[in-house]
Amino acid sequence: MGDRRGAVPQTMPASVYVGDGRLTVRDLPVPTPGPHQVLVEVSQCGICGSDMHLVLEDYARVGTVLGHEWAGTVVEVGDAVAGWEPGARVVSNPGGGCGACRPCRLGRPAVCLARQAPNYLSFGGAFCRYVVAEADRLLRLPDALSTRAAALTEPTAIALHVVHLAPVSPGDRVLVTGAGPVGLLVVAVLRAAGITDITVSEPSPPRRARATEVGATAVLAPDELPRPALGVPVERPYAVAFECSGHAAAAEAALDQLDAAGTLVLVGTGREHPRINHNRMIVLELTLLGAYNYDDDGFGPALDLLASGAVPVDLLVEPDDVALDDIGRAMRRLAEGEIAGKVLVRPGAR
Ligand SMILES: [Zn+2]
Ligand SMILES: [Zn+2]
Repeated sequence: MGDRRGAVPQTMPASVYVGDGRLTVRDLPVPTPGPHQVLVEVSQCGICGSDMHLVLEDYARVGTVLGHEWAGTVVEVGDAVAGWEPGARVVSNPGGGCGACRPCRLGRPAVCLARQAPNYLSFGGAFCRYVVAEADRLLRLPDALSTRAAALTEPTAIALHVVHLAPVSPGDRVLVTGAGPVGLLVVAVLRAAGITDITVSEPSPPRRARATEVGATAVLAPDELPRPALGVPVERPYAVAFECSGHAAAAEAALDQLDAAGTLVLVGTGREHPRINHNRMIVLELTLLGAYNYDDDGFGPALDLLASGAVPVDLLVEPDDVALDDIGRAMRRLAEGEIAGKVLVRPGAR
């Protein structure tokens, strides 16, 4: 191993899952990169809905460090690494599909059977000061993009994939249910793709307000959505609905709002399963789609989109980053709907 740069300490603060829905900050050893790896100092790491499920619903393994939506700066490179140097600002690209399995042959590498599934239950995450990354996975940040904004790369790549999978085009009337961090990003990506008629259904007033700022053309509370008559579309139906809340009732209501030949895209995961009205699906020939993961080209298009200024990063991210010991509180506030945008953790803050 090459010389450890003087600035890198032996230990670092990390937010560790300790069970019962609780996180604690502990000192852990700073990992040593292998020959083909780099050590990255985490600038910011976003709190993902999956982190929240793992903590608040007590799925995570005790001792785990969560957090996968990170961007940072290379501080140390392994002996066999070429083309990267300390100071490079980076994110880690997930990589594409194998090209050979059935989903890949169908052009669906997001669900490649050979793609290494992220093991969120026991994860070497980035709610800590330093992470190790594979050098051949790194993407350099465009000059126009701040490291902080680049922490949105992973959820933006997901939103791009969601919109690419859906049969949506400019001129379509689109519904988004749930205006948390995921729903807001989907709205922003839809706007960037030229879709202008976007209704957002969301119970939380601050989230509705933020959705309007991000580009929704109409916002309403879920109980304002009309109940459809038997076998016919509602009066002003939608071509596509994106369910981003993870709530069963929202998925059921979204399906009810579709036009004939409409599509419901399920994006938000949740504990309760929706009840699908198959009669309505049959009579109106509706399509139900699930969307997960990223396109084959991974994070590159997301970085380009963020750097282009076409999505309002300042509205998608909460203005104040949180320190490691405030992650649990931020998760509870997000779960309550008090916060609209993505919360970024800044491990260097104390
Ligand atoms: Zn995520
Ligand atoms: Zn494959």
